[in-house]
Amino acid sequence: MYHYKKCPYCEKELKKIPLKSILCPKCKKRIYVRTLPPKMKKVLIRKNEIRAIEVEWIDYATDSYWFKELEKLGIKKTDFILMYDKLKERFQTAPLIADVMWGVFNNAVIEAIKENNQKKQDSIRVLMDKFKKMESEEKELWVF
Ligand SMILES: [Zn+2]
Repeated sequence: MYHYKKCPYCEKELKKIPLKSILCPKCKKRIYVRTLPPKMKKVLIRKNEIRAIEVEWIDYATDSYWFKELEKLGIKKTDFILMYDKLKERFQTAPLIADVMWGVFNNAVIEAIKENNQKKQDSIRVLMDKFKKMESEEKELWVF
């Protein structure tokens, strides 16, 4: 479906796989480089394919244990998408999903405080501690 070594516009085979966006040496159009879950393979895409890749990441993250747990507490996928787009705007590029997840956790805690819901706050903080611990131990965060 996506190209790994060829220009996504003119299909010219590239001598070197680029690490970041470049102009195609043949057609001069901008080639974007993105990582694709779950295998984290680098793909070369057109500008109009950027959102599709972002959606793949959003789906990947919201299928995770963390998000399923948050859903039980009333957090919605749209909350994740809003955070994704907010961080993307701030960083001017695709954010890391771990950063997006962390932002969603933080917002969820703030909401629970506003709702004066101690049980919900505690549940989210337990998840956050677990997330931080696994992240610092460099464990697989998304599929386990
Ligand atoms: Zn090209």
